[in-house]
Amino acid sequence: MKKHNFSSGPAILPESVFAEAAQAVKELPGEGLSILEISHRSKAFTEILEEACRLPKELLGLDDQYEVLYLTGGASSQFYMVPMNILGAEECAGYIDTGAWSVKAIKEAKLFGSVEIVASSKVDGFTCIPKDYKVPEDLKYLHITSNNTIYGTQFHEWPGTESPLVGDMSSDIFSRPTDLSRFGLIYAGAQKNLGPAGTTLVIVRKDMLGKVERPIPTMLDYRTHVKKNSTFNTPPVFPIYVAMLNLRWIKAQGGLEEMARRNQRKAALVYEAIDTFDIYSGVAAIADRSLMNATFFLNDHSLDQEFLSRCTAANISTIKGHRSVGGFRASMYNAMPYESVEVLVDVMDKFGREYAGKA
Ligand SMILES: *Cc1c(COP(=O)(O)O)cnc(C)c1O
Repeated sequence: MKKHNFSSGPAILPESVFAEAAQAVKELPGEGLSILEISHRSKAFTEILEEACRLPKELLGLDDQYEVLYLTGGASSQFYMVPMNILGAEECAGYIDTGAWSVKAIKEAKLFGSVEIVASSKVDGFTCIPKDYKVPEDLKYLHITSNNTIYGTQFHEWPGTESPLVGDMSSDIFSRPTDLSRFGLIYAGAQKNLGPAGTTLVIVRKDMLGKVERPIPTMLDYRTHVKKNSTFNTPPVFPIYVAMLNLRWIKAQGGLEEMARRNQRKAALVYEAIDTFDIYSGVAAIADRSLMNATFFLNDHSLDQEFLSRCTAANISTIKGHRSVGGFRASMYNAMPYESVEVLVDVMDKFGREYAGKA
């Protein structure tokens, strides 16, 4: 029996997507060849790629100023590709520091220009999204991590600034309808809410490119991939195919409105359990709680192992918190069924009642 997979990534995808992907590994419908052996320049793959580039714009409501790319190297490579392509040596970029992922992005950006940390939730142990800060004028861009996968914090509104926003949306892209018109670039490693590990979605507004002086190696220059529609070299054919299947699924389910409705219902169920029983504490500040990754502690850590065994017995997989935070984390991406969340919350409720007042 398949487990209820609460992994933060690589993560769950819809069952129908797994089935179609498995079929395509044997034979891509109508091709007489596996998706693993077709040319990235074949008609079949050209159509797949075209759809994989069209659907993100359609779902996110982006116009033709934006280009969709499928790159490799993970979201982590975007930490340096963004400043290498966009931040001039004499220019300054702002970063909002919401924890581990922003810290890594900041480190790379400093290699290319100046960086101003506009706000940080470090003093709060990254358990919240910074508020009440002033964004300096004339930043080349302001970088945010829209959802911090590790601490379970999420921006519920975008920072106010005249500068273009750049967003690492690895763990909440396609999870809710949102206005991206102030974004100049967004990126997301596929393996959280989009597809398998192996490709990174980059969406860039064309006017962001071509404005820095430094030489950029061909493969690291966004313009190469814009010009060649992500096929300058062999792109990750299979991850792109599976991402396309998942995007189709999202659209068929009712698009981002429907994803948001489901994600809110699922998250509400887990947070209600956290708030109802005195043995649990949520990690993230209530106003900044993520709809994707719900993080919590057992107040009495000596019960951790017992709680984990109950989860395992209920066929729940990968519920432990990130090693830097500890506790527990329920990642509930788009494909996570409500029924799986009910199984988890059932364990939480029973455990919470059993140990009430004892922790
Ligand atoms: C997982 C994650 C990353 C790193 O992604 P890779 O594809 O492994 O490089 C970056 N940012 C966020 C917000 C993530 O959740």
